[in-house]
Amino acid sequence: MNRTGYLDIIARKRDGKELSAAEIEAMIAGYTGGDIPDYQMAAWLMAIAIRGMSLEECAAMTLAMVKSGSVMDLSSVPGVKVDKHSTGGVADTTTLILGPLVAAAGVPVAKMSGRGLGFTGGTIDKLEAIPGFRTSLTQEEFIRGLKRIKIAISSPTTAIAPADGMIYALRDVTATVESIPLIAASVMSKKIAAGADKILLDVKTGTGAFMSSPAAAIELARTMVEIGRRAGKEVKALITSMEEPLGRAIGNSLEVREALEVLSGQVLDPELSLGMEPLRHLCLVLGAHLVTMAGISASHAEGYEKLSRILDDGLALAKFEEFVANQGGDTRIIQNPALLPAAPFCADVLSDSEGYVSAIDARRIGQAAVILGAGRRIKGEKIDLAAGIILKCRIGSKVRQGQTIATIYASAQNKLDAGVEAVRQAIAIGAEEVQPPTLILGLVDEFGFHSV
Ligand code: URA
Ligand code: CA
Repeated sequence: MNRTGYLDIIARKRDGKELSAAEIEAMIAGYTGGDIPDYQMAAWLMAIAIRGMSLEECAAMTLAMVKSGSVMDLSSVPGVKVDKHSTGGVADTTTLILGPLVAAAGVPVAKMSGRGLGFTGGTIDKLEAIPGFRTSLTQEEFIRGLKRIKIAISSPTTAIAPADGMIYALRDVTATVESIPLIAASVMSKKIAAGADKILLDVKTGTGAFMSSPAAAIELARTMVEIGRRAGKEVKALITSMEEPLGRAIGNSLEVREALEVLSGQVLDPELSLGMEPLRHLCLVLGAHLVTMAGISASHAEGYEKLSRILDDGLALAKFEEFVANQGGDTRIIQNPALLPAAPFCADVLSDSEGYVSAIDARRIGQAAVILGAGRRIKGEKIDLAAGIILKCRIGSKVRQGQTIATIYASAQNKLDAGVEAVRQAIAIGAEEVQPPTLILGLVDEFGFHSV
């Protein structure tokens, strides 16, 4: 296609017209092939962000992005392969727990994960907090891991939907991340290319999510489930709250520690037992859906029961150890988490009044983690694996004046001071009693949305 052809496609989307699959494919192939410059692609993406896309257009966009690379062939791995994907959040440490948990139940977990970007964290960064851990597997290593221990987690090879990496980088700097069709195509192109049979999506809503309203999260979920159906994959999506951070640890090394706590059934601070519950519960709910979709549990309730027992019996922790060993990580961190990167500076954030925690703004907590160095401002930036935040309260917690509501970890005094201030501003305390937000709002499957 020539320049005028691309220009016409951009103009038609600007004017709210529906594009054909061939036109969409031309744009994706043109961009990945170097024929379309960033500025034209950015204009087109902005037109999509403003005008939207029909399901047909979004499905065509997804398939064009899949076609920009190759599709992983997992047919040599026995069993129904599953994958889980979160749309991104804060203190969302589920993969480190859920992966080994479901693998310990006998279901192969084939997962490509990303790095954190903006205020959200990413599993690959968290795994890299484990000394020696290799997050970049070849296709052969990935498949070998699945066959041997039923779990492999890797950053995507360059062959997996390369269009997404290029487009995502452009969206990140052109205010076009928050678009339902663009997120749906981005997520689903990677999931389809990564080759699992069943895909469970965890679509976040709330202050710390790309989709702040439940209605937008449900629409995103419906779009992704439908794209999956058209591609011949069973896809379900849970709609879950990111109104406050999911776990209480934010920051890579700290989140590995929290995952170890959940995997080993520890409650470090019984007064705050609320703190560990949502993360553990969500892992069990996601896991129950996965084992049911994989056909090894007859019902969600039975799956939840089974996985609770696996967790309590230490089998998920044992699987985590196998997983760390298989990808070259230092397994001594399991008995001795002090071997994980640790920050030289720490400080407590104290409540300046008595009352009830009314808000822990997940987005601002994520931004505070970036200030501390735990996340990145721009793609490719080096991060501080030890830095981060431990929350010592949740929405609804009753606190005294002077009580520690968070502890901040940093590698330099100036970052520590800025982080303390940012976390203080993210947490609101009021006089009225407050109900914690509902963690799981519902499920979207091929029949639509069901509240749970
Ligand atoms: N996560 C993705 O993988 N892509 C998006 O566009 C947003 C969140
Ligand atoms: Ca706790």
